[in-house]
Amino acid sequence: MGRNIDNKCKQCRRVGEKLFLKGERCYTPKCAMVKRNYVPGFHGPQARRKRLSDYGLQLIEKQKAKKFYGLMEKQFRLTFQRASKKSGDAGKNFLRALEMRLDNVIYRAGWASSRALARQLVNHGHFTVNDRKTDIPSFNVKAGQIIKVKTSSQNSTYFRKVKESFQKADRPSWLNFTADDSSIKVLHEPQESDLPQNLNVQVIIEYYSK
Ligand code: SF4
Repeated sequence: MGRNIDNKCKQCRRVGEKLFLKGERCYTPKCAMVKRNYVPGFHGPQARRKRLSDYGLQLIEKQKAKKFYGLMEKQFRLTFQRASKKSGDAGKNFLRALEMRLDNVIYRAGWASSRALARQLVNHGHFTVNDRKTDIPSFNVKAGQIIKVKTSSQNSTYFRKVKESFQKADRPSWLNFTADDSSIKVLHEPQESDLPQNLNVQVIIEYYSK
């Protein structure tokens, strides 16, 4: 599977918004959007952000969402196409499908400080869904499923290190933490208020409807 190897902070600077791609650093004054909030490149500090056409605005919104979830174009478009076949609001269905990816759930649950790290942890087979090892980041998690760290991974350096922060993590209401076995139960699909508010999904629909 392809991987976006662009400098993460440049991705934020290009779209002019924090995308929180680097974990804890994103919340510190070291964040490049705090220190260098201008487009990357030689003329960056002097260059003004261009006025964009409708198409340019749609493109940048799509790029922003794609980078926010750390997906490549093909996966992102496929997720959109599948979501738009469902009944109901296409935009909300699309965002829900992105939120219910296993890598995103691991990030939201507090096991990883960024989606990129969450994806790596999933790829390395550290998690089970309903007691079955699941190492596919795009795995579509369903309401009622229980996610745990695989028994053989629980004593690894990484999971011992994040144990405390994971237990105290701030989670969305659709994910329920059980202290007894450090598991996460998916209570239901994310509701409208749980969906990211920084993404203009209507503009993305317009982009793909051309
Ligand atoms: Fe984006 Fe995080 Fe880099 Fe800030 S530190 S520019 S939020 S990736």
